[in-house]
Amino acid sequence: MVFEVIITTDRTMMSNHHGKEFLGFIATGPPIGMPEKLWLYICAPKPRVDELGRPIEAPYGLRKIEAVLQDAGFKAAIIDPDHLYKHVDVVKVVLIGHHDYFAYGPPSSEWWSLTGIEPVNRRSFIRFMNNPVMRRVKEKGAKIIVGGPAAWQWLYELELAEKWGVDTIVDGEGEKIIIELVEKALKGEELPRYVYVGVDNVPSVEEIPVIKGASVNGLVEIMRGCPRGCKFCSVTLRPLRFIPLEKVLAEVEVNIRAGVKGVILHSEDVLLYYADGIKPRPGPVLKLHEEVIKKIGEKRSLAWAHVSLAAIKYAEENDKLISKLTQELILNEHRKLIGVEVGIETGSPRLAREIMIAKSKPYPVEIWPEIVVDAFRIMHENMIIPAATVILGIPGETSDDVVKTIELIEKLKPYRSIIVPMFFVPMGALKKNKWFLRDHLKPEHIDALRVMFEHTVYWAEDIMKIYMSSPLYLPVRFLLKYFIGYVKKKVREYTGKLEEIVKK
Ligand code: SF4
Repeated sequence: MVFEVIITTDRTMMSNHHGKEFLGFIATGPPIGMPEKLWLYICAPKPRVDELGRPIEAPYGLRKIEAVLQDAGFKAAIIDPDHLYKHVDVVKVVLIGHHDYFAYGPPSSEWWSLTGIEPVNRRSFIRFMNNPVMRRVKEKGAKIIVGGPAAWQWLYELELAEKWGVDTIVDGEGEKIIIELVEKALKGEELPRYVYVGVDNVPSVEEIPVIKGASVNGLVEIMRGCPRGCKFCSVTLRPLRFIPLEKVLAEVEVNIRAGVKGVILHSEDVLLYYADGIKPRPGPVLKLHEEVIKKIGEKRSLAWAHVSLAAIKYAEENDKLISKLTQELILNEHRKLIGVEVGIETGSPRLAREIMIAKSKPYPVEIWPEIVVDAFRIMHENMIIPAATVILGIPGETSDDVVKTIELIEKLKPYRSIIVPMFFVPMGALKKNKWFLRDHLKPEHIDALRVMFEHTVYWAEDIMKIYMSSPLYLPVRFLLKYFIGYVKKKVREYTGKLEEIVKK
């Protein structure tokens, strides 16, 4: 079979992370304490592929582009980076997608800034682009188009784009624009250097196709966009669209047929599926879960990509929705937990009012810390394990704001969770501001980093035991345990050093 259009990416993206999505985040760190190969073994093992190098599971965003192109009649396929050599002589267009090409996104940029060592994802992507196969692809005249959520990072790396022969950067949702670009590339017409996909050009629900092959860890999208409008976030620039249940179930089916062992429901806020504004409606959310669980059966895992803390509190306090979902539908002897990402961002109501006034809705922003604590308690009681983010260095942040964040994190100690500090990265409505870097740290930031790290270490082993209970995960658990021990030691040394730097 001949593919004129190949969709691909580097190893840190093209992996199912041992079936544990969370392990993929380890690629955002610099390779310290262990050789890089071991890091890659933990976070990005090679996926199963067919004889042509097509992975059985591939990143969801690439699957969408593949589906659009195949539906439009192009000979297009996703190919694993190690198998590109099989297609060098015929490929005419290479499409590349990534979540964090150059490690400028959070939290990669933060680990990099703190340690001064390039993160694994950046190293891996640069290796991929410098690979002789990619060079030969270019020498033979193929066009290279890059996109995905991290497309903006290429604007900081225009020299590399030139060196590697990147023809077009697509910033925004690619489903509509990609057909025109690929047609031009195949006809040998000149391509634009940069395309920004604005609100008027995003695909409608009808134009978003059903994926043709399995996605990494069974991720399926149930919604696009977010109504909360946080100023630091780029998602908020996209209009809100709900994916109809039939389409969601069709994608679950694609994954089951490929033998994927679980489903991740992807949305910026799973509880807002067909919501009434920002108030969750139990009907659609329960129906979604009932139907998905009917399809996946008792043994496959189920996770949520993101949920908002205000929605957790509201849904439980008004409709007991969280306990209904977990206790009556999701949890059983095979599914002992639900993993999810949540955003705390700050413990300061003053700062919350400035940068994310709608994040607390339908509650007033003044009680943001109370919302966070209540939501963590509800999640703890229902075996939902959040990986929470906190942003340090948001423009306009004061020392008092950071102290309030520290106080909030301390109140979260009884609740099983991971809390990840992130340095502010200029995105969304705040993209004209400056990056927050190590040199900007104040003593209270170091205290905040320490408190979050201690919280995460306190819960890490407990979470690992439940999350990776199968004996199959023993080697990974062993390496992670060793790594946590190493990091504990390093953090003690490091925070000491940072304190000295800050005092000077
Ligand atoms: S709630 Fe989350 S996804 Fe929505 S705008 Fe805020 S940060 Fe972005």
